[in-house]
Amino acid sequence: KKWVYLFTEGDATMRNLLGGKGANLAEMTNIGLPVPQGFTITTEACTQYYEDGREINDEIQGQINEYIAKMEEITGKKFGDLENPLLVSVRSGARASMPGMMDTILNLGLNEDVVKVIAEKSNNPRWAWDCYRRFIQMYSDVVMEVGKKYFEALIDEMKEKKGVKLDVELDADDLKELANQFKAEYKNKIGVDFPDDPKEQLMGAIKAVFRSWDNPRANVYRRDNDIPYSWGTAVNVQSMAFGNMGDDCGTGVAFTRDPATGAKGLFGEFLTNAQGEDVVAGVRTPMHIQEMAEKFPEAFADFEKVCKTLEDHYRDMQDMEFTVEHGKLYMLQTRNGKRTAQAALKIACDLVDEGMRTPEEAVAMIDPRNLDSLLHPTFDQKALKAATPIAKALGAAPGAACGKIVFTADDAVEWAARGEKVVLVRLETSPEDITGMKASQGILTVRGGMTSHAAVVARGMGACCVAGCGDIVMDEANKKFTLAGKEYHEGDVISFDGSTGCVYDGAIPTVEATIAGEFGRIMAWADEYRTMGVRTNADTPHDAQKARELGAEGIGLCRTEHMFFEGDRIDAFREMICSDTVEEREEALEKILPLQQGDFEQLYEAMEGNPVTIRFLDPPLHEFVPTEEEDIEKLAKAKGKTVAEIKAICESLHEFNPMMGHRGCRLAVTYPEIAVMQTKAVIRAAINVKNAHPDWNIVPEIMIPLIGDVKELKYCKKTVVETADAEIAAAGSDLKYHVGTMIEIPRAALTADEIAKEADFFCFGTNDLTQMTFGFSRDDAGKFLGAYYDAKIYENDPFAKLDQTGVGKLMEMAIKLGKAANPDLHIGICGEHGGDPSSVEFCNKIGLDYVSCSPYRVPIARLAAAQAAI
Ligand code: ADP
Ligand code: MG
Ligand code: MG
Repeated sequence: KKWVYLFTEGDATMRNLLGGKGANLAEMTNIGLPVPQGFTITTEACTQYYEDGREINDEIQGQINEYIAKMEEITGKKFGDLENPLLVSVRSGARASMPGMMDTILNLGLNEDVVKVIAEKSNNPRWAWDCYRRFIQMYSDVVMEVGKKYFEALIDEMKEKKGVKLDVELDADDLKELANQFKAEYKNKIGVDFPDDPKEQLMGAIKAVFRSWDNPRANVYRRDNDIPYSWGTAVNVQSMAFGNMGDDCGTGVAFTRDPATGAKGLFGEFLTNAQGEDVVAGVRTPMHIQEMAEKFPEAFADFEKVCKTLEDHYRDMQDMEFTVEHGKLYMLQTRNGKRTAQAALKIACDLVDEGMRTPEEAVAMIDPRNLDSLLHPTFDQKALKAATPIAKALGAAPGAACGKIVFTADDAVEWAARGEKVVLVRLETSPEDITGMKASQGILTVRGGMTSHAAVVARGMGACCVAGCGDIVMDEANKKFTLAGKEYHEGDVISFDGSTGCVYDGAIPTVEATIAGEFGRIMAWADEYRTMGVRTNADTPHDAQKARELGAEGIGLCRTEHMFFEGDRIDAFREMICSDTVEEREEALEKILPLQQGDFEQLYEAMEGNPVTIRFLDPPLHEFVPTEEEDIEKLAKAKGKTVAEIKAICESLHEFNPMMGHRGCRLAVTYPEIAVMQTKAVIRAAINVKNAHPDWNIVPEIMIPLIGDVKELKYCKKTVVETADAEIAAAGSDLKYHVGTMIEIPRAALTADEIAKEADFFCFGTNDLTQMTFGFSRDDAGKFLGAYYDAKIYENDPFAKLDQTGVGKLMEMAIKLGKAANPDLHIGICGEHGGDPSSVEFCNKIGLDYVSCSPYRVPIARLAAAQAAI
C-alpha cells in the first residue's frame, strides 16, 4: 500500500487521503507556484498508527525513508549532511482544517554539527542559532511535551540580562547560549540527551503529529465541528524556507478578501526577520500586508499574482501562509479561508456577481451552523452612538459582547455554567482556551492582530472578538486590569463591538437580528433549491411571529402546556390538576378554554394560513403542582379544599420515573375532558380565524403525543373527532382538520403500519425517541456523556445530532411502514434535531416532508435543507 506521496504526485482532489494542507501543497505545486518541496504521509497511515497501538509500522517507516531519499534528490540536500544539510518542517493537516489544533515543528534536521556548518556557510550565525533554539523549543514542546513556559522563561531571562525587549534584538551568541540552556533543560526534564540523528528526530515528530490527533483540544474541536475521529490527520514533511535570515526576509499570512466583512482586497499581516508562528503569536506587532509593497516590492508583486491565480483557481476566498527568503517568495499553504457568517454571505454573493459561482454553488458554500451568529442580537445603534469608547482596538470577529469580566478560560466555563454572561479578557489566547472562549459572550485580548489565535478561533466559532487592545494594563495574576484610568476587576461589566473594535464601560443594550441584504438573497436562493418544508416549534404567539419573520412555513409543534407559564394562568391550570372529580376538572377547564383559544387564534394569525400543529397536553402533571406554601394556600382557597387535601393530591401525583409515567396520551385516556377542552379551543380558534381570512386555507393539525399502540390513538382520536365534528356542525362551518401522532416511542415506530391507518400525519419527536431508544434520560445524560466521549464510545451528543444508525433506522422503518399503509400520510420531525444541519440532511434523505425547529434555527434549517437537496 502506498502510504507516502511526493507533492508532485498529489492534487486538490486527494484531500481525504492527503489532508487539506497536503492536497493544496500538491495542487499549488501542479499549477507552478513556488512551493518548497516535500512529501505527505497519508491520513490512512495515521489510522494505521492507531490500529497498530500507536506505533508506525515497518512498512510505513520503510516508505518514509524511501521518500526522504527522494526528497534529498529533489532538493540536492541531505539530512545531517555537513556540506549541504536538509532542514524540514513537519506539519499536520487533516481533511478539514483545524486551525491551531496541532503543532508544527520547524528546522528539523539540526544538531550541534549541522548548526555550525550552516552558520559558517551562510555567514549568518545569528540565523543558524535562532533556527536551532527554535527547533529545540518546538521539538521539546510538541514531541516530548515539555511545557513551552520553561523555554519562554529562559528567553525572558536572557532578554532581561541583555536589556532588550524583543527576540530579534538577541544576537548570535545569546541565541547559542539559549540553545545550550534549552538542551540542558531538555535533559533535565526528559533524562536523556536531545536527539542528534535527523531521522530519529523525524520519526519522533511524525509520531507526535499522529498523537496530536487525539489530544483533548482536537477532540473538542472535532465534536463542535462534526469532524469524525476516524478521519485521522496527514503529515507533511517539507523543506524549509527561511524568513529569519535577516531584514530582507520575513513571514506572513493573508486572505484574498477580508474574513470579517468579506470585502474584496488583500488582507493580512507580515513580519520581517521572523519564522513560523511569530506573526500570529502576537509577540511583535506585524505590519499590514500593504506595507510589504514598499519594503519587498518584488516579492509583493509576485504574491499579488499568486493570490489572483489561487482565487481564480479555487473560486473562493483564500487564506495563505508564505515566507520571503532573501526577497524570494515561497508559498507554504493555501486553503478556503475561514470567515464570519457575514463575510461568508457577502463573498458568496460577490462570487456570483463576479461570474465565478452559480447561485446554487453559492448556497452550497455557506456553513449553515455559521448563520447562528447572525441571528444573535447586535448593539442598539442609538445606545451605541451615545456611549463613549474607553478604548479602540482591532475588530477581529463581529458581534456584540456584553458581560462580566473573567480572566481565565476555566473561570469563563464555570461562571457560564452558573448562568452568568461573561467576557473573557486575556493577554492573548492559546488553544487551551477554546472551551472558555466558547462559554464567553466575547473575547478581548491585549496582544495580537487580525490573524492571532483569538481572532481566528473566534471567527471560526462565530464569537465576537476584539484583539490587540494595547491600552489595557493587564495584571492577569491578580485578576484585574487598568484601562482609561479605571481599574477593572473580575465581575465588572464591559461591552465591546467586534466590528469596530470599540470597548465600552458597563452594559450597552442589544437588539434582535433580522434577515436582510445578502442574507436575504442567499435565503431566497436556498428556498428555490430545497424540497423539504421548514416549520417551527413555537409555543407562544411571540415565538410564532419571530419564526415567521425568519421564514417558517408553519408550526410543526406547539407545546400547549408552555402557554401556562405566563402571568397567573398557572392558577387555572393548577385548579384543573388538583381536581378529584370530572365535574371539578371540567369547571377548571372552562377557565382555561378561552385562554387557549385566544393563543391559538394568534398562532393562526401569525402563520398566515400556513399549517399549525398543536400537540395536546404532554408532560407529567406533577411538574405543575405548587411548591410554595403561599401558592398552596391560594389554590386551596380557590378549590374550597383544605391545605392538607391539596398537599395530598400533589403528593399523589408524584412519580418515580415521570418521563415514563402518567403523561402524553395517557392523560387524555384518563382525563378525556382535557382533550375535549383542547379540541374545542383548536376548532373554535380555527373557525374564527378562517372567518376573518376566507382566503387562508386553515386546516388545524391536532397531534396526540406519546402513542405506543394504535388503540391508544383510536381511543383519543374518537374524543377529538366527536368534539370537533360537533363544534364544526354547531358553527355551520366546512372546516377540515387532521389528527395525527408523534412517533416518539420505539413501539410506535415498530408498529407504524397499524398506527398510520388511524393517523393523518406522523411527527418524529426525536428528543423522546432518542431517550427511549438509548434508554437514558436527556436530563441526566450530561453526567456521563463526557466519559463516553473520552472513551470514544460516542463522538457526539445524540440529543444534538441525530443518531442515524439507531434512531434513524427506527425513523426509516416508520416512514416505510406508515406510507405503505397510508399513502396520504405527511411526515415531519419536531425534535431539537430539526435544526441541526447534519440531521436535516438525513431527514431529507429519508424523505420527510418537513423539519420543525426553534425559531432562531429556521434559517439554518432552510439552508441545510437546500444543501441536502443540491
Ligand atoms: P498550522 O496548521 O497551525 O497553520 P502550519 O503547518 O501551517 O501550521 O505551520 C505553521 C507555520 O509554520 C506556517 O505558517 C509557516 O509560517 C511555518 N512553516 C511551516 N512549514 C514551513 C516551511 N517549510 N518553511 C518555512 N516555514 C514553514
Ligand atoms: Mg498553517
Ligand atoms: Mg415528547
